[in-house]
Amino acid sequence: MVRHWLHTLVDDTLMPKQLNLLKSSIDHGLRIGMLSHDCPVCGVAATRACTRCKMVRYCDGEHQKQHWPQHKKSCKPYREAVDEQLGRYLVATQDLKAKQIIFVEDPIVVGPKWYLSKTEKTSIIVPCVACYTPCRLGKHLCRRCRWPVCSANCVHESLECTVLSLGQGPAAKSDTRGLRNYYREDALLVLKCLLLQRQAPERWAALLQMQSHEEERKGTELHQEVEKRIVSYLHRNFLHRLNQVAKHCKERLISEYEPELIHRICGIIETNYMVIELATGVELSGLFRNACMMEHDCQPNCYFQFDNLTHQIAVHAGCDIKKGEHLKITYTNILWGTHMRQHHLGMTKHFNCRCARCLDPTEFGSYVSALRCLGDVNKTCTGIQLPIDPLNEHTQWKCDTCPMVVETAYVTGLQTHMSDDVEKLLAGRPTASQVELLLARLSQMLHPNHFHIFNLKHTLIQLYGYEVGLELASLSDAQLDRKLRLCDELYDICQRLDPHSIKLAIYVTVILIEMAHALEQQANRQSEQTQALVILEKARARLMEAHEVLEKEHDSVAGRKLYMKLQKEVFELDKLMVAQSHDRHTA
Ligand SMILES: [Zn+2]
Ligand SMILES: [Zn+2]
Ligand SMILES: [Zn+2]
Ligand SMILES: [Zn+2]
Ligand SMILES: [Zn+2]
Ligand SMILES: [Zn+2]
Repeated sequence: MVRHWLHTLVDDTLMPKQLNLLKSSIDHGLRIGMLSHDCPVCGVAATRACTRCKMVRYCDGEHQKQHWPQHKKSCKPYREAVDEQLGRYLVATQDLKAKQIIFVEDPIVVGPKWYLSKTEKTSIIVPCVACYTPCRLGKHLCRRCRWPVCSANCVHESLECTVLSLGQGPAAKSDTRGLRNYYREDALLVLKCLLLQRQAPERWAALLQMQSHEEERKGTELHQEVEKRIVSYLHRNFLHRLNQVAKHCKERLISEYEPELIHRICGIIETNYMVIELATGVELSGLFRNACMMEHDCQPNCYFQFDNLTHQIAVHAGCDIKKGEHLKITYTNILWGTHMRQHHLGMTKHFNCRCARCLDPTEFGSYVSALRCLGDVNKTCTGIQLPIDPLNEHTQWKCDTCPMVVETAYVTGLQTHMSDDVEKLLAGRPTASQVELLLARLSQMLHPNHFHIFNLKHTLIQLYGYEVGLELASLSDAQLDRKLRLCDELYDICQRLDPHSIKLAIYVTVILIEMAHALEQQANRQSEQTQALVILEKARARLMEAHEVLEKEHDSVAGRKLYMKLQKEVFELDKLMVAQSHDRHTA
């Protein structure tokens, strides 16, 4: 059994460090497999898509006309609206069923990942400049621009290739670091935007209509960061030569590329980009006209899937949505407390969220930000501390039982300190007892549902039953109970924050699988066979629920990994149940 089987995958998305480098982490993409490509009238494979919704295809105009009276009821079930506070947003114009596709759209632009991690910046595995397939640095190079490609046959888009071929290439005898400093794929999304001026003027116009927050960005850390990473990199290596080239050829490759404009594009990307995960695990960034217009809410009602081949995006209803409701997705990590989400949204997206969760100090009764009250010198207190005004970053925190009040600075200091402790511990692949130790220490100051505690507990359920010496069969009854209780607590928090598991599908699936595990073991220890079967039925119900939840993620890398595990679990459990009922009949 692999120790700590989902550790990296789950904790990566939980770590609160490096706020400025967080992806917008909207749901990972899946293939839009459920869209039929057959004409609904005659059933023949068809290519002519309804131009309004792009969701149905027809063999010819005749059949399209014939189908319209029926199709118009479901064609484009939303409208655009504008609000002074929200800006542009989308509203359902009819009742929508959970999982229903609301719209499908082509991207304005799709390109490589916008922020590379530390390891990616120095890795010798890079995405092919033409098709994004991971390839070894230096193995194959595009014949013209000399950028890494997956094979000699892979075709690089010609305008981008021309611009990149203006570069000098990495210095001779460069080491990996030198090569990676030259091949910066995280700057290519911006270049792809600039190329739209020639390739697709109408998409270029749509791009420039998107919000950039350029004024707010000036002088910030983010502005300095892109100045170095993108603006000066592109100018130094490629764009400065465009002028010289222009003298020799009649037509200019790109007409506008001055630093101001590039900064504006960076602002547009930062404000609007979506993270797309391909089946290969490669992560891309994309801009979409309608999807990027969707309103943010810390409890979303929509999710999206991405088509690897066409680069189209499909937005789905995450739950039943009533006519008139806004369509909402999430641009931040919903497992964080309000203060942290606000900080992240303010820094990257330049707005303060005022959703129902953000306004509620208890965050829908989840208490993921709450602290324990420490009382005063004379008297201990069992109350909890909550922010008086959660949207005010300088708010005081008040105890719900005694008159004790604490200042924000204290709370922030405490949380940052704890983030460091949690991050350090989890990075080192800790044992269950090490996690328990930190958990006990943090629990003195934090509510049992606090998001730091959530992180530790979610790690623990993946250690009890797997760690050497703590395999399921070796757990004491008390340890087994603990595992089950932790699962219940975590499940309850997830249900409060995301009742339809739209954002937390992966977390919830892990919890449900571990619940089933613990229940199975409890059934094993049960001497009464009827009772054992009842427990096994319960375990099976958990796995079936996991199956349902995972549907939204079944094609993301984490989702597929979990899906395989889930399949195996169901198979094993069914075997066990057959054996049990057989025993019962023969007993
Ligand atoms: Zn037809
Ligand atoms: Zn249509
Ligand atoms: Zn390729
Ligand atoms: Zn090329
Ligand atoms: Zn909110
Ligand atoms: Zn108190």
